[in-house]
Amino acid sequence: MFKPVVPGLYRLALGMVNAYLLYTPRGAWLIDTGDLSSGPTIANALQRMNLTPAQLRGIIITHLHYDHSGGLAYLQQHGAPAAIMHPRDADDVRHGILLRRPFRLTPPLNVAQELLDARPPAQPMGQPTVVDATAVHDTFIDDVIQVIETPGHSAGHISLLWQMHGGVLIGGDVCMHVFGLRHAVGHEDEHQATVSRRRIGEYQYDTLVVGHGTPLCGNASDRVRHIFGA
Ligand SMILES: [Zn+2]
Repeated sequence: MFKPVVPGLYRLALGMVNAYLLYTPRGAWLIDTGDLSSGPTIANALQRMNLTPAQLRGIIITHLHYDHSGGLAYLQQHGAPAAIMHPRDADDVRHGILLRRPFRLTPPLNVAQELLDARPPAQPMGQPTVVDATAVHDTFIDDVIQVIETPGHSAGHISLLWQMHGGVLIGGDVCMHVFGLRHAVGHEDEHQATVSRRRIGEYQYDTLVVGHGTPLCGNASDRVRHIFGA
């Protein structure tokens, strides 16, 4: 079930990962789509919000990974519109490639690096989807959702700044909020990931929501600067 974070923004916890529903004056946006099995759960949760996938104004996906883009194919098979993504990740998701290597795991998870590397590279995991590669830096979606490029975790990772309620940053996997603010589970480019964590500290927002973990409410951008530097 979608649960309110602030008025007009709802979080759907899908096991390890979150999806969000955000209302602008023009309609409802789904942000991220969970993993490969999440489609029916999201459709049910939308129904409880009196929405069908076809009634979504759009879908925004923060990055290619299977736990954020995995439910997209199912939702599009049930009428959902094209997803919006950054060009660097869009083409892989169109072809069902939902993880790119090399992907370096953050300690202590890096004990599993060999297992990850042993899997064949660039193998399609999902089904083809329809993606518009239009989410580049400083694009405004419905005038109120600002795209911030935050590469590193993946080359086409984006965060979204919604200019309401003191500002809400929807950070995808730019960082996690699990037992505190911390680095994501891994990255394609460590330096870029560091720069991106600092970049989100350059904006002002009261609330931070991310792919993994709970919302951080109240002076969130100050907390981000404190943990990740500015
Ligand atoms: Zn990810």
